[in-house]
Amino acid sequence: MNVISLLQAERTTLSFEFFPPKDESASDTLLETVHELDRLNPAFVSVTYGAGGTTRERTRAVVQRIMKETCVPTIPHLTCIGHSEEEMMEILDRYAGDGVKTILALRGDPPRNQPDYDRSKDHFKYAGDLVKFIKEHPADFTIGVAGFPEGHPTTQNRLIEMDHFKKKIDAGADYICTQLFFDNHDFSDYRERCELAGIHLPIVAGIMPITTISGMLRMAELAEGSRFPASLLRVLNAAGDDAMLIRQAGIDYAKTQCQGLIDQGTSGIHLYTLNKSRGTIEIAESLSF
Ligand SMILES: Cc1cc2nc3c(=O)[nH]c(=O)nc-3n(C[C@H](O)[C@H](O)[C@H](O)COP(=O)(O)OP(=O)(O)OC[C@H]3O[C@@H](n4cnc5c(N)ncnc54)[C@H](O)[C@@H]3O)c2cc1C
Repeated sequence: MNVISLLQAERTTLSFEFFPPKDESASDTLLETVHELDRLNPAFVSVTYGAGGTTRERTRAVVQRIMKETCVPTIPHLTCIGHSEEEMMEILDRYAGDGVKTILALRGDPPRNQPDYDRSKDHFKYAGDLVKFIKEHPADFTIGVAGFPEGHPTTQNRLIEMDHFKKKIDAGADYICTQLFFDNHDFSDYRERCELAGIHLPIVAGIMPITTISGMLRMAELAEGSRFPASLLRVLNAAGDDAMLIRQAGIDYAKTQCQGLIDQGTSGIHLYTLNKSRGTIEIAESLSF
C-alpha cells in the first residue's frame, strides 16, 4: 500500500524520522533501531538531508539500506539548497532507480557554517519550486512537504505565509508533515486554517519527545521560533536535576500529546526519534487507537 492510502485510512498512523549516521558503525546501530521500530508497523520512515557535503550521500546510503533490509516505505528528505537543476535530476533518477516512491521536498536551511550563504544564487528558491520539478519527473513520485503549525519564522505575516503554502501545495504536494509542536491546539488550529484555505491533504503531526534539557535547548535553536508551553516546562521543572525523571516527564508529555492527536482523528503522527528506539517504543505502546 502506498503512503497516501495509509494516511487516508481511518486509524492514525505512526512514522519515524532518522538522520543519516556519521559512519558504518553508527549505520549498523541505526539499522538495529529501525528493526526494533519495524514491529510497531510504521506507515513510513524518513531520513533527513544535510546542508551539504558527505552527509548528503549518507542520506541515500541509509535509505538504500533500510529499503534492502526491511519492507518499511522509506522516504528521503531532499532540499533546494545548493543544487543545480542537473544535480537534482540526477538525484531523482537515482532514487527512481532505487525504487523510492515518495520524497519529502523542502527548501532546507543554509549551512550553519556559512552565515552569509546567498540563497538568491540557488536554482530552486523555495520548496514549491522543488515540488514542481519533482512532479514533472517520470517516476511519478508521491511528494510530501513541510508545514508549520506555529508559523515559519521568516514569514511573520501568517496570511501571506498561508498564500505561499497554498501555492506549494498546488504545485503538486500529496501530504504535509509538520514541524514539531508541543501544544495540540496549535495543530488543530493549523489543520482548520489549511481546510479554510482549501487544503485537504493528509497532515502528519511532528512530535519530538523531550528527553534531556540540553536536547530541548538544542531543539529551540534548530526549530527556531518553537513555543515551549508552560504545561511542558512545569513538568520538566518538577523533575529538578534528575535525568531519569526529566526523561520520564518528557516521554509522558509526548504520550499525552500523541493520545490527544489520535483522539482528534489525526491522519498520522511522525516521531522525531533522534535515531533511538526506546522512548519511541514506550510512547507507541502506551497509545490506544
Ligand atoms: C518535517 C520537516 C522535515 C525537515 N527536514 C529537513 C531536512 O531533512 N533537511 C533540512 O535542511 N531541513 C529540514 N527541515 C527544515 C526546513 O528545511 C526549514 O524549516 C526551512 O526553513 C523551510 O522549509 P520549507 O520546505 O517549509 O520551505 P518553503 O516552503 O520554501 O518556505 C520557506 C519560507 O519561505 C516562504 N516562502 C515560500 N514560498 C515563497 C515565495 N514564493 N515567495 C516568498 N516567500 C516564500 C515561506 O512562507 C517560508 O517562510 C525540515 C522541516 C520539517 C518541518
